[in-house]
Amino acid sequence: MNSNPSSYGETVLEIDLNALAHNYRFITSKLKPETKVMAVVKAFGYGSDACEVAKELEQLGVDYFAVAYVKEGVALRNAGVRTPILVLHPQTVNFEVLIDRCLEPTLYSARIMKEFVRAAESKGQENYPVHIKFNTGLNRLGFWGNDSDWIMDRLSETTSIKIKSLFSHLAASEDASEKSFTLDQIEQFKEISEKIIAQLGYRPFLHQSNTSAIINYPEANFDMVRTGIGLYGYGNSKEADEQLSPVVTLKSIISQIHKIEPGESVGYNRAFKASGYEVTATLPLGHADGISRSYGNQVGHVLVHGKKAPIIGNVCMDMLMINVTGIECKEGDEVIIIGASNPASDLAESANSISYELLTALSQRIKRVVCRKQ
Ligand SMILES: *Cc1c(COP(=O)(O)O)cnc(C)c1O
Repeated sequence: MNSNPSSYGETVLEIDLNALAHNYRFITSKLKPETKVMAVVKAFGYGSDACEVAKELEQLGVDYFAVAYVKEGVALRNAGVRTPILVLHPQTVNFEVLIDRCLEPTLYSARIMKEFVRAAESKGQENYPVHIKFNTGLNRLGFWGNDSDWIMDRLSETTSIKIKSLFSHLAASEDASEKSFTLDQIEQFKEISEKIIAQLGYRPFLHQSNTSAIINYPEANFDMVRTGIGLYGYGNSKEADEQLSPVVTLKSIISQIHKIEPGESVGYNRAFKASGYEVTATLPLGHADGISRSYGNQVGHVLVHGKKAPIIGNVCMDMLMINVTGIECKEGDEVIIIGASNPASDLAESANSISYELLTALSQRIKRVVCRKQ
């Protein structure tokens, strides 16, 4: 009898710190020894647990952290993280808190720079570390290269801030068909930063690479790389994925088994209709936990005792149903939704999504369990 009862008895997200350490070592093995590493732990550490991840990476000697918003940086500081933290996308209303908690802002526009200088001056700051972001083609956030004279003028008027780094962000580093675009972004960033460094009289450090750029454009790592998805075990390609180890495993449990007769339906709107005798299982997680409705109706599958069981019908808010016809299983058994055996990248792809979206959607309702596997 194939029996594998869930040891947790509920839906949990396991966070394997050994897998994280493996990924960190793999990524650093791709870098020159002097290249610094910024670990991106925004969005709860890509859906895992930003504080647990950051504390482990701090032990491993990471140089910097990045978060998207001030609130995320505050959570890291509250957890005792002492490493410098870059806030990628700060908002002016949070500048006071940012300064109080020793977080370092990205200055990405004239408005943000003026407001930050005002906040830093009003709090009596000298040489507060800031990071200037340039837009080299993503057209999302950042100064233009030709804003550099304006930036230099503002800098000459204040002693409240000091440029710690210059950076930019690539639009398509994972996409081989956009190689010439990416090389152009890298070239633009080089030119912009050389011009600024010549005027500044000191050398802020430079960074542009995300995970895929570390792998695909190692010559463009500059002084530091910013790695997010790779740390969590996904590399935007089959080859990279083989070297990395997924940090999170999403496990659930069979709450109930139903025997369905031909013509019967399962779930809301009767979206699944049985053509024959089927066996279905109900799991305690749904779209409120981050498994979107787009995975329903046989688009996505989970693993029951290592066998593929499609998600059937419409995913409900708190539950989803799977087809376990022909799979020996019973109530209380464990089900793997995401993990090394059912990678987030594959499950996401089934619904035209990406690992980033699936992982970061996993809601805070799911219990997190930190572990160290071998
Ligand atoms: C999220 C983010 C990263 C991390 O990218 P990955 O592809 O996850 O490595 C790096 N830089 C910026 C500006 C980001 O917003």
